[in-house]
Amino acid sequence: MDSNVYRAKPGKTIDWKHWDPDDKSQFDGDKDDGRAALPALNRRLEELQELLYAENKHKVLIVLQGMDTAGKDGTIRHVFEGVNPQGVRVASFKAPTPIELAHDYLWRVHQQTPASGQMTIFNRSHYEDVLVVRVHNLVPPEVWGRRYDQINAFERLLAEEGTTILKFFLHISKDEQKQRLQDRLDDREKRWKFSTGDLAERKLWDNYMAAYGAVLEKTSTDHAPWYIVPANRKWYRDLVISHTIISTLEGLHMRYPECEPGLDEIVIE
Ligand code: AMP
Ligand code: MG
Repeated sequence: MDSNVYRAKPGKTIDWKHWDPDDKSQFDGDKDDGRAALPALNRRLEELQELLYAENKHKVLIVLQGMDTAGKDGTIRHVFEGVNPQGVRVASFKAPTPIELAHDYLWRVHQQTPASGQMTIFNRSHYEDVLVVRVHNLVPPEVWGRRYDQINAFERLLAEEGTTILKFFLHISKDEQKQRLQDRLDDREKRWKFSTGDLAERKLWDNYMAAYGAVLEKTSTDHAPWYIVPANRKWYRDLVISHTIISTLEGLHMRYPECEPGLDEIVIE
């Protein structure tokens, strides 16, 4: 699998016609094969995360964004299955509290960034401040308009201080969202996830896609790339994200720390 095909090129305008949420071209197999391939990737991620923790050098930040029902929660469940909870944390960003609103929008975000040896998953992120905020005019255009540069500068700071950043846009179609919202309504155990507010947001689909287009064009950088993940098929979404994280972590060439000298001679009495 080559997930580079899903990488948004810095500065390149996104034409949604060319991004197919049903694409599965990077995997040779069907849903059953795809589901069967995931456990081995889970084990590999578990090993790499253990190494990340042991080496205690790199920090890893994974950003998940997508429309309602795009599968942010499902991705966290499936891709990180089996990793050691000591080294991985999820930070979810909801509508800001009054205290958060009294600060700059990156204040709450910076506090949640990973420490050395840690992996942090952002379930939504500072990108909401140029998505929902832009679509609903929660601040004037000149204020959100400055934020792309501010976000790039913030992420550059994190990267220069040792953070590996991967950002995933979970790309579903409007029809797929309809189906998933309907499933939430129909299934008593999923109903708690249904919010009538999601229907109001759905009406703004095109505005959100335009706002996502701007994000992907302006904030996909070499130090913090965006991946546009075809996400209509959950199994394929999981494979792409899992694979991308694993190959990025492998590229860090991490090593277990040197142990104390003379351990071979030790006899424990
Ligand atoms: P959920 O992810 O379904 O729990 O929903 C979280 C909600 O919080 C979404 O509707 C987001 O758009 C909203 N949210 C997250 N960050 C912000 C923000 N900075 N400003 C306004 N709303 C936000
Ligand atoms: Mg929701």
